[in-house]
Amino acid sequence: MTKLRLAIVGAGPAGIYAADILLKAERNFDVSIDLFDHLPAPYGLVRYGVAPDHPRIKGIINALRDVLDRGDIRLFGNVRFGTDITLEDLKKHYNAVIFATGAVRDADLNIPGIDLEGSYGAAEFVSWFDGHPDYPRSWPLEAREIAVIGNGNVALDVSRILAKHADDLLTTEIPDNVYAGLSESPVTDVHIFGRRGPTSVKFTPLELRELGELRDVDMILYDEDFHYDDAARAAVTSNKQVFVIDKVLNQWRQRETGNASRRLHLHFFAKPLQVVDDGTGKVGAFRWERTAPDGEGGVVGTGEIREIPVQAVYRAVGYFGSPLPGVPFDKKRGVIPNREGQVLRKDPSSGSPGATQQMYGVYATGWIKRGPVGLIGHTKSDAMETVRHLINDLGNWWRPESPSEESVIELLDARGITYTDLDGWHALDSHELALGEAQGRTRIKVVPRDEMVQISRSGQ
Ligand SMILES: Cc1cc2nc3c(=O)[nH]c(=O)nc-3n(C[C@H](O)[C@H](O)[C@H](O)COP(=O)(O)OP(=O)(O)OC[C@H]3O[C@@H](n4cnc5c(N)ncnc54)[C@H](O)[C@@H]3O)c2cc1C
Repeated sequence: MTKLRLAIVGAGPAGIYAADILLKAERNFDVSIDLFDHLPAPYGLVRYGVAPDHPRIKGIINALRDVLDRGDIRLFGNVRFGTDITLEDLKKHYNAVIFATGAVRDADLNIPGIDLEGSYGAAEFVSWFDGHPDYPRSWPLEAREIAVIGNGNVALDVSRILAKHADDLLTTEIPDNVYAGLSESPVTDVHIFGRRGPTSVKFTPLELRELGELRDVDMILYDEDFHYDDAARAAVTSNKQVFVIDKVLNQWRQRETGNASRRLHLHFFAKPLQVVDDGTGKVGAFRWERTAPDGEGGVVGTGEIREIPVQAVYRAVGYFGSPLPGVPFDKKRGVIPNREGQVLRKDPSSGSPGATQQMYGVYATGWIKRGPVGLIGHTKSDAMETVRHLINDLGNWWRPESPSEESVIELLDARGITYTDLDGWHALDSHELALGEAQGRTRIKVVPRDEMVQISRSGQ
């Protein structure tokens, strides 16, 4: 029987779902899957993106873990595609590869002052509070007033973690250094800015509601943002999600405020213009232009410029994918160009500059396929589509010279790569749970990469 030796690069939800779907799919060939990740632990942004105070979502890890624990997928952590293993290597050992490398860095926001000291990308901050091993262990939390730019769920996560009292995060899996850092924060006011109105936000009702439940934090809204035009009113009546968001915001407007030690301000119709220098190269203020509804659900600038003093700015304007050596990349969208998961490259034989052709043996799924939007569940449907093509493309797979399972291990060993495996992940997982249990917490994450690797490889 034909056997598909498949490499999947990226052990986030997209990569794990792709493996699971392929193993369960109706097919007339055997499958053997190796899952690579440059982090020593699996689960991608579920471990290093989803906020620590979202235990229900973090719980998706249990379903992903069940897939890995079935025992028919080999995990190689701490192996970076592009340096530790290349596309040429994969061609020698596998019939095909699926890239599921997600999107981990911040999209750019081109306004003056965005590079000042005290101006950060949300992805960097998220990586810090979620204990990502490749980010500094300390974070400068010296600002009393903070601006958060963006109206999506990541902006809400960042604002919530900034405004929440550190003690209220103690039951979660936040690393000790994160708790210590947040405990020292002098923050009093977090201002969230969105370019459009309350009925055009990208965040979801559940995430929004959570903000209003924070202990000792007042929600501050501004009446001027709630003069709805026809398009906004129509959105409230026709879209259930908008209806709920509008209801939540209006309930907050009725609340008494003034007794809390911290405040979360929601500013709508605010187009970011500039992060203002305090005269020493640090963030001193945030400047924006007031916008107004354009009658069709969008906004136009009014020319009215406003400014508030802040000492830190976080931009949460989206994530962006990173290019992988040897793999085509769409620089504008930050994705691997593909047709339903089949990777496309430039067609050199065509006279037309935009012409593409399928790059046989190479597939994409998840955020690197579709762009950084959507929930974890969406990566499942992504994977179904990609895997369907992989199965149908059987005649066009690579023909590797060394397809044996041992040959990859020999390659990694010969290069001195200290990879981690599934048993190693179990060891690290148990270690983190034990650390947590000792302090009455669910888990305490191990942050330094070398420590993660050492614990994972201790049983080898
Ligand atoms: C801050 C934040 C909060 C979120 N909160 C929620 C939420 O509450 N609920 C929800 O449903 N969704 C949430 N999401 C969305 C969810 O995280 C994504 O939908 C999902 O993680 C995308 O899956 P993925 O597998 O495509 O990418 P990822 O989860 O990013 O996984 C990609 C994997 O590829 C690996 N990788 C990257 N480059 C390489 C390389 N060169 N070599 C080897 N490995 C590599 C990475 O280490 C990573 O493990 C959130 C996202 C963010 C950013």
